Amino acid sequence: MFTFLDLKPHLPITEHTVPCPVRGCRRIVPRQRMRFRAHPDFICPDHNIFISPSTFEYTDFRQNLLWTDPSDLALLNRIFTTKRESRMARNNSEDALSWNVFRFLEKTDLLDSYLSTITGRQVSGSRICYWGYSQSDNGLYPILADARREFGEQINRGSEPDLIVLSDSHLFFIEAKFTSGNRTTPSNPAVRTGYQSGGAGWYESVFQADFSNVAIRNKKYELLRFWLLGTWMASQLGFDFHLVNLVLESREKAITSKFFPLIRQDTTRTFSCQTWEGVYRFLCSEKPAGEDAEKLFAYFSTHTRGYDHRQRLQRGFTI
Ligand SMILES: [Zn+2]
Repeated sequence: MFTFLDLKPHLPITEHTVPCPVRGCRRIVPRQRMRFRAHPDFICPDHNIFISPSTFEYTDFRQNLLWTDPSDLALLNRIFTTKRESRMARNNSEDALSWNVFRFLEKTDLLDSYLSTITGRQVSGSRICYWGYSQSDNGLYPILADARREFGEQINRGSEPDLIVLSDSHLFFIEAKFTSGNRTTPSNPAVRTGYQSGGAGWYESVFQADFSNVAIRNKKYELLRFWLLGTWMASQLGFDFHLVNLVLESREKAITSKFFPLIRQDTTRTFSCQTWEGVYRFLCSEKPAGEDAEKLFAYFSTHTRGYDHRQRLQRGFTI
C-alpha cells in the first residue's frame, strides 16, 4: 500500500501525460480523462498501479487492504458473490476504507462499544454484514432480500448499505463516504411507485416529505432508500433502527439539518452523521494493543485521498 510517505507531494501532470505518483519513479503514462479506466495504457509497470491525474488503482486489490489473511480473503471471496460492484483496488475507495476499519472493529470485538458510543444505547451481540452479505446465512442477508422485494427492487441489484450490523435489539445501516457525497437522484423516476406502495404504504409512516422532494429536489435518493428499507426491516424484527452516515469530518457538515426535516424519527428510529475521524478518536480512547492496531493507527495517519485540482496530495483524514 502506498501512503502519504511514499507518494509525491505534488504531481506534475501535463495536457497529455501523468507521472507515476510514487516518489522517485520516473514513469509517465498518457493522461486519462473522465471516468477512471483500469487499462494497461495507464499502468506503471514498476509499481503495478493504474494512474489518473487524481488517483490510482492497484492491479491487485489486496494491496489496498490491511486485512488479507486466509480467513479475510475467504470471507471477501464469499462477499464478492453478492456485492454489486467493487472499487476495492482504488486508492480512494470507500469500500477498502470500510473493510480496513470495520473488519478490525469486528475482529477485536469493538463493534458493540463503538455503536454504543455513537448512539448512547447499550448495544450488544453485534454481527456485521459487509455489503449485504450475511456470514451466518452465507449469502445475501435474507431480510434485506425481503425488503428489496417488498419495495419493488431487483433482488440482485437492489439497495446495498456498505455495512449492516444486527445486534440483540438494534439494526444499523452504516453508509460510508470517503471522497463521494450523499447527492444522488434516481435515473428512472418511475421507481417511486415501488418505494411508495411497498410495505403497505410504509413510506408515509417514516417520511415527512414526498418522494420527489426527498429523492429529486433534495437529491437524497440513496439515503431515502436506506431509511425506507432499514426502518421496515427493523419493524419486521421488532428492533430499533439507526441509519449512520459515516463521512469525512470536512464533508457533509449540513447533512443532518437537511435530512432531519424530510424523515420521521423517534426513539425507535434515528439518523445520525458520524465521521471517520470520530472512529479514530474512539480507537484512541479504547487503546487497542498489538501489531494490527498499530497498522490501523498508521493507516489513519498516512492514508491519502489522492490529488486535488492543483495536483497536491491530500491526506485522507483530519487527525
Ligand atoms: Zn511507478
